[in-house]
Amino acid sequence: MHALSVLLKPRTAPRWPLLKFRTAPRWHFLFLLFCLLPGALFSQKVVADNYPSPETSFVATPVPDSIWNRMQGRSYRKNPHILREDLRYLQLLHVDLQGNVRQGQMICNRAIADDLTEIFRSLYEARYPIERIQLADDFEANDERQMQANNTSCFCYRVVSGSKKLSAHARGLAVDINPLYNPCVRRRTDGSVLVQPSNARTYVNRSTSFPCKITTEDLAYRLFISHGFEWGGAWRSLKDYQHFEKKMAGRR
Ligand SMILES: [Zn+2]
Repeated sequence: MHALSVLLKPRTAPRWPLLKFRTAPRWHFLFLLFCLLPGALFSQKVVADNYPSPETSFVATPVPDSIWNRMQGRSYRKNPHILREDLRYLQLLHVDLQGNVRQGQMICNRAIADDLTEIFRSLYEARYPIERIQLADDFEANDERQMQANNTSCFCYRVVSGSKKLSAHARGLAVDINPLYNPCVRRRTDGSVLVQPSNARTYVNRSTSFPCKITTEDLAYRLFISHGFEWGGAWRSLKDYQHFEKKMAGRR
């Protein structure tokens, strides 16, 4: 008995605290890892589920009923020039200014739907920064509001600002890219300058350097030009740096 107690007492007493202090943190760490791992896997899945994969994005479909209903009285008004069947609904992945992947929505003319899905896919693959791609209806189809919010968009049934002429956007044949950083600049006859959106005066001077500036070196410029679009930044009457438009004679 004495020998047994000698064996038990001196060995177990000093070793247990050592075991406690040396191994317990490891077990805590493993236990924490065990708890967090499913959560980490789950959150990745949630992110993956929230955004369609590139394989299922960049496709053009007829305008769904829910979208069409929301457009009424906002970006669409009954008119003889452009009908529902002339339009297509696009879901586009894009990378925002913070590098996050986002899902955008766009309405365009069916005549340029393939151009736009190819262009925006190339921009996404190059991680070209686009702050947001939302429907004009999110801004009550108010062009100044969506430009101030730097919204990239295409279709909105409206006239050219300051005229009665139907805009190329009214036919879904023009796209405005990052409009806050690429404003529309018009010199009036009295010498004053109209900047749209009104909060973009900082970006009128195109000789300075800032993010999202569209130039002839820019990837968006090169892609749109290669698909047969013209750039508003090259116009002489006014400079519309955000604007790419496809001229299609006789196209409704
Ligand atoms: Zn435009």
